[in-house]
Amino acid sequence: MHAAPIPQDAAPIIAADRAHVWHHLSQHKPYETTDPRVFVEGKGMRLWDATGREFLDATSGGVWTVNLGYGRADIARAVQEQLLRLPYYAGAAGTVPGARYAEALIAKMPGLARVYYSNSGSEANEKVYKMVRQISHRHHGGRKGKILFRERDYHGTTIAALATSGQAQRAEQYGPFPDGFVSVPHCLEYRAQWDVSNYGERAADAIEEVILREGPDSIGCLVLEPITAGGGVIVPPAGYWEKVSHICRKYNILLHLDEVVCGLGRTGAWFGYQHYGIQPDFVTMAKGVASGYAAISCTVTTEAVFELFKDTPTDPLCHFRDISTFGGCTAGPAAALETLRIIEDEGLLENTTRMGERLLANLRDLAERHTVIGDVRGKGLFCGAELVADRRTKEPLAEAKVQAVVADCAAQGVLIGATNRSIPGLNTTLCLAPALIASEAEIDRITDAIDAALTRLTA
Ligand code: PMP
Repeated sequence: MHAAPIPQDAAPIIAADRAHVWHHLSQHKPYETTDPRVFVEGKGMRLWDATGREFLDATSGGVWTVNLGYGRADIARAVQEQLLRLPYYAGAAGTVPGARYAEALIAKMPGLARVYYSNSGSEANEKVYKMVRQISHRHHGGRKGKILFRERDYHGTTIAALATSGQAQRAEQYGPFPDGFVSVPHCLEYRAQWDVSNYGERAADAIEEVILREGPDSIGCLVLEPITAGGGVIVPPAGYWEKVSHICRKYNILLHLDEVVCGLGRTGAWFGYQHYGIQPDFVTMAKGVASGYAAISCTVTTEAVFELFKDTPTDPLCHFRDISTFGGCTAGPAAALETLRIIEDEGLLENTTRMGERLLANLRDLAERHTVIGDVRGKGLFCGAELVADRRTKEPLAEAKVQAVVADCAAQGVLIGATNRSIPGLNTTLCLAPALIASEAEIDRITDAIDAALTRLTA
C-alpha cells in the first residue's frame, strides 16, 4: 500500500496557483472565496492534493487520459533512459522509439500503415483535415474538400477542430470558422429524432441525406468518434457502423475515426472501431497513447492515403507540407511503447471489459432505485448515466444539481465527471472513466459514492 505523501505546506502552493494559474475549463470567480485544488501525488487510482486529502480518481486525470494509473515507475524509467540517449529530433528524419512505436502500433491496426506524430488530439485531427484538403487540391481539382462531422461529437480545441465541434456551446464564441465543415445528425437513441425500430440504420441514413444534399462530389471525409465521449457517452445503436461504412465506400468518402478517447484500450478493445469490424482510412489518438506520462498524438493512415502524397513526374512537390515541432520528442513514443507493453502484459483489455461490465451493471442497479437516472450507457471503462428531472418527459436535470452530485462525490473522496457544460439542457450525463487497472472494489466504491450522492440529492 502506497503511503500518503509527506504533508506539504499547502498555503504557498495554493496561493501561487490562485495568483497565477489560469485553469482549463474553469470559471475562476469561485476561487475568490474557495481554494483551488492542487494535486501533489498519485499512485494507482489514488490522488492526493496539497492539503493531504486523498481521492479515488474515476476520471483518469480529469479528462480520461491516465489509463494506466499514477506512479508507474516502468514508464518513468523508459522515458528517462530514452531522454538520456536522445531527447529529440524533428523534421525529415526519424528516431528509434518513433520507428519502434509505429511498428508496434500498426501491428494492432490491420489495414493501416503510417503514423504521423504530433502532440495533442486537436493537432492529430487537424492533420487529417489538412491531408484531406491537400488530397482535394492535388487529386480532385479542389472538389471533395468538405469534411462532415456529427452533432455532439468533439474533435478538439483549435479553430479548425472547433469547426467540427458538434457541441455548439463550445464553439459559438470563437467564430467565424473556416468554410467546408458540415454537420450530420447525432445517433443518441435516448434523445430520438426518428420514431423507428432500426434506429442505427436510420441515423446512418441521415448522414447519406446530408451527403446527397451537399453533393457527394464535394465531400472528402467523414469524422466520427467511435463512442461519443464528452458529448454524452453515446454508443451508436446496432446497424449504425455497418451502414456508415457502406455509405462512405459508396460515395468515395474517407472515414476518419477520432479515437482520442477510445484508443488504446479504453473500451476493452485496442480501438473502439474494432468492436464493429469496420475499416477506417484515418485514425487519430492521443490521451491513452502514453497514459499522460508524455505528450504524444498519432494520425494513422492507410498506405493508399500515404501514396497520394508521393511525387510523380507530372505532379512534383506532393509531400505533406506540415511539421509538428514537438512531434520530434522521443519521450512520447518511449512512454507509448511501454504503455502498449503494459496493456498487453497485464491483460488490461480483458480487465477493462470485465470492470466495464461491472460498472455498467452497478449503474443499471442504481437506475432501478434512483428515478433521476434516465439512461445508462457505455462500453468498457467509459460509462455514463444521464440525469433527468422527469423520466417520462426526459427533461434534463438542472446543471446545478448535476454539479451537486459531482461535488458530493468529491466530498466523499471520489472524483467523477459530468459532461453537461457544453450543451446546457441537453447533456447532463455523469461520466465515469476509471483507469484500465481498476479493481472490483474500486468500481464499487465509485458507484457507492454516486448512490449516496443521489440519495442526498433527492432526500
Ligand atoms: N477528440 C476527442 C474525442 C476528445 O475528447 C478530445 C479532448 N477531450 C480531443 C479530440 C482533443 O484533444 P486535445 O485536448 O489533446 O487537443
